[in-house]
Amino acid sequence: MGVAGAGKNGAPRADFVHLHVHSEYSLLDGAAQLEKIERVEGQGKKEKDVGLIARAAELGFPALALTDHGNLFGAIDFYAACKQSGIKPIIGSELYVAPGSRFERSGQDGGYEGASHATVLVRNETGYRNLIKLVSKAYLEGFYYKPRVDHELLAQHADGLLVLSGCLNSEVSRQLSAGDEAKARETAGWYQEVFGKDFYFMEIQSHGIEEQSRVTEGTVRLAQELGAPLCGTNDSHYVDAGHAKAHEALLCIQTGAAMSDPGRWRFSTEEFYLKSADEMRSVFKRPARGVPQHPRGGRALRSRPELRTVPPAQVRRARRLHPGLLPGAPGLRGLRRRYGGSPADAVVERLRYELSIVTKMGFSGYFLVVWDFIAFARRQGIAVGPGRGSSAGSLVAYCLGITNVDPVGYGLLFERFSIPSGSPCPIWTSTSRTTGATKSSSTSPTATARIGSPTSSPSGPWGRRR
Ligand SMILES: [Zn+2]
Ligand SMILES: [Zn+2]
Repeated sequence: MGVAGAGKNGAPRADFVHLHVHSEYSLLDGAAQLEKIERVEGQGKKEKDVGLIARAAELGFPALALTDHGNLFGAIDFYAACKQSGIKPIIGSELYVAPGSRFERSGQDGGYEGASHATVLVRNETGYRNLIKLVSKAYLEGFYYKPRVDHELLAQHADGLLVLSGCLNSEVSRQLSAGDEAKARETAGWYQEVFGKDFYFMEIQSHGIEEQSRVTEGTVRLAQELGAPLCGTNDSHYVDAGHAKAHEALLCIQTGAAMSDPGRWRFSTEEFYLKSADEMRSVFKRPARGVPQHPRGGRALRSRPELRTVPPAQVRRARRLHPGLLPGAPGLRGLRRRYGGSPADAVVERLRYELSIVTKMGFSGYFLVVWDFIAFARRQGIAVGPGRGSSAGSLVAYCLGITNVDPVGYGLLFERFSIPSGSPCPIWTSTSRTTGATKSSSTSPTATARIGSPTSSPSGPWGRRR
């Protein structure tokens, strides 16, 4: 059995920890929503969370990592949801590593598929801060198709982190795949030296891919030679096995291909879901010779005393952004700016009503992002319109300075912009004019869906129902 002891609510504790897990924040690549509320069939209005964290809790995992591709977008929500479910959150990211310098951007740097992958996990607060720096610099300095770090950056910010050697697309795996075991040893040795012998694990995966079994044999040999711990993972991209087709559709959206296209890019097997501890145990029973039956997974990592999680204070600070539109925030300050020191009761009442809808639907972050870029445009002298279409019906938008049309004075309805009963998400349309050229841009829920606009569920990086 893959379980040991009992966890919260009496759920059996699984003797395995997933350390390579993608969520919806692996943009157009991960189909696992952290939280997903669904109606329970045949039980009236009863709802159930069928998202990633709830599934992990159901499977009895005592801890869970989040390793989205090149970013930490989901880290805070992940942390909070794990805490609520009694799961120890391990924050991480599957970073993209440039083949040379992160500053180089040419054909030799591999284009879209040039960067390799490395699974990086946070051990303590220093590591959390370092991972934030790595991810930020990957976007600011290393962006070439993907946000990329390089060896120089990794060495500068290695403290407090633990690295798994990575999937088939990692540096070591690619070198093993190319038959260059000496180079792979050199690369693994570099990581081991930089991150420390205790904090560089050789990662093995088994998704039923032939090439993977071949590479695993090499990885195990290297682990033995270097004295590096082995760690078995499953590259989880969706929650349940049955979601493989939906995930394929997501990849089609990413690549602009049709499901009917036989040559489309797709995952070659359907093993990329959050497997149970028992499934993981059986996965590693059938790999190539020499692979131990119970790779350590997260157990060793979890038991390390220095593996702490992000200080709650930081999370609380970050989550204070959520109710950013509530009383005391820019919305109400804007009310006084627009309507003077003592606005009419009807105006105050309407603002409170709109704020309650915005907050309830989890749109606070969405409003704040639009407020931020419109305010930036105005500060920079970039002409933006006074507000177009239904957005002019929002008093919140008017008070925030997003629009410049008084919806009260002109009798414009908020309900045209946002429907209190739920979706659809409000759509902003803005026009900006820069030197000589006019650009129209539409920020719609589809355009921003992956960065937190609420779609089917009002939980996103900035908006949560609870
Ligand atoms: Zn990968
Ligand atoms: Zn991955």
